[in-house]
Formats: sequence, structure tokens, C-alpha cells
Amino acid sequence: METTVARKRLEEMRDDLDRSISILQGERPGPVAGEGYPQDSADAGSTLSEADRTEAILHSARNQRDEVLAALARIDNDTYGQCVGCGQEIPEGRLDARPDAARCVTCQSKYAKRR
Ligand SMILES: [Zn+2]
Repeated sequence: METTVARKRLEEMRDDLDRSISILQGERPGPVAGEGYPQDSADAGSTLSEADRTEAILHSARNQRDEVLAALARIDNDTYGQCVGCGQEIPEGRLDARPDAARCVTCQSKYAKRR
């Protein structure tokens, strides 16, 4: 994939994630979100799990954003498309599906297992 194309796709992903993150942060019930907050304590349980769910989505969106930013940095460093694990070229099809992919499939599965 051309790095100009990859950069454009990554910047769009970053912008989408920025939007999602700010929406999720707005939805997250906090000390300031007093209005519209359920008064009935029977709802407290479901509100908590909803907050946990939002937090989990927010967490993964932030991680994803880090991946995208790292991929943009690799374009700047001219190392985009190289696996950060073994240094081999990441197959075109994988980059097409995941422009922010940092590793080839082999290294990614090793990396995922290690965590
Ligand atoms: Zn690799």
C-alpha cells in the first residue's frame, strides 16, 4: 500500500477515534453528570455496569488510537509496513485490512499470547 494512502486512512481512523473517545467521555457518568441521573437506587446496578462497559470501550478506543498514532509515526520514520517484531514486510492484504498493523500475523500471535 502506498504510504500516502495509508497515511490518509490512518488519519481518518484517528479522527474517528477522537470523535468516539470524546462522545464516550461525555456519556460517562461522573460527578458533574447530575442531571438525568437515575434517582431510583434500583437502577444503580445497571448504571454501574453501563459505566463499566463505556469504560471498557473507551479503554480499547484509546489503545486503538495509540496503535494508529504509532503507525503514523512509522510512516514518518519510513519503517511503515515492516513488522516491529521481526522486521519483515507485513503482507499487503493485512495492511489493507488493518492499516495500523504493527506486526506480521506470526509476531502478532506471539505478542498476543505473551500478554
Ligand atoms: Zn514479524
